[in-house]
Amino acid sequence: MAPTTSGPPRAYNDVLEAIGNTPLIRLNRLTEGLQKSSVWVKLERCNPGGSIKDRIGLQMVLDAEAKGLLKPGGVIVEATSGNTGIGLAIVAAQRGYRCIFTIPDKMSDEKITLLKAIGAEVHVCPTAVEKEDPRSYYEVAARLASEIPGAWYPDQYSHLANPLAHLLSTGPEIWQQTEGCLTHFVATMGTGGTITGTARALKELAEADGSEPPRIVGVDAVGSILKQWFEEGTMGEPHTYKVEGFGEDFIPPATDFSLIDEVHQVDDGTCFRWARALARREGMFCGGSCGGAVKVALDLAERADAAGEAAMIVVILPDAGNPYLSKFYNDEWLVENGWDPQDWE
Ligand code: PMP
Repeated sequence: MAPTTSGPPRAYNDVLEAIGNTPLIRLNRLTEGLQKSSVWVKLERCNPGGSIKDRIGLQMVLDAEAKGLLKPGGVIVEATSGNTGIGLAIVAAQRGYRCIFTIPDKMSDEKITLLKAIGAEVHVCPTAVEKEDPRSYYEVAARLASEIPGAWYPDQYSHLANPLAHLLSTGPEIWQQTEGCLTHFVATMGTGGTITGTARALKELAEADGSEPPRIVGVDAVGSILKQWFEEGTMGEPHTYKVEGFGEDFIPPATDFSLIDEVHQVDDGTCFRWARALARREGMFCGGSCGGAVKVALDLAERADAAGEAAMIVVILPDAGNPYLSKFYNDEWLVENGWDPQDWE
């Protein structure tokens, strides 16, 4: 596919206009050896808040304003693993709202410092408790929202504006950037908003075009219950893991599993190893969920290639590497946690 470099550089009236329209970039070095297939990554770290979650932060606030749920001077309260908080905080900064976020204690200090830097108040809650436990970051957010006058609790896990943001922006952008030629779409699953909204857009656009829709591939974390739920309709026993932002210990209502064709699981080491490889071999400094998603895409590309198929695989890279500098980008942290980065060279 010929790269599109046409179009004048844009100027924006405010930071919110700069959300979305992220680049789609072909991998070259990690895909050496592939004959016919290609892997393309959508670099969501190029959003102003540094992650894909800017898209839903804006969409959820627009929805709340339209419904009168968020009034001038109002307070946004949300349970967030960090990126949604940043997305909401940049919208709040621009629109004059106050933000209060609850965050699990496994999240990096950089994410917490960053949320505070954009003006949010942050409550750190224990990770290793049930969702229903009054100390969990979901329950603390719900309690604060009920106690604070004028508070609005978007709840990204069930809010329809979450998948809607991707139906309206991420999906159509990918369709345009690939000229409808993609064969697979790969995304990690947390709330499921990204995979649900993007898959629906791609399927609708393919149908309107009379072409075969791309195969929709979800990526789950080892320790999460989503893959087993998708394949067997049963709830497994979740356990904690270190990679941030995807996999869940409950079924998020924002996910429409009927749009997904297959789900793969990746463990912490795979995510960290391939995120580091993306940085060192492709120059893309991204988070751990990006590493897991890229590894699944590379495996798919190898299988397609071996079968003589020309797969064009598009992968979402949700965020940047900066929040993880003190974690898996730090060799000492890796060794302390049982990995030897030299094994990955
Ligand atoms: N990776 C990271 C780093 C994230 O912050 C998120 C959002 N929780 C995801 C992946 C998964 O995206 P979604 O919630 O849309 O499924």
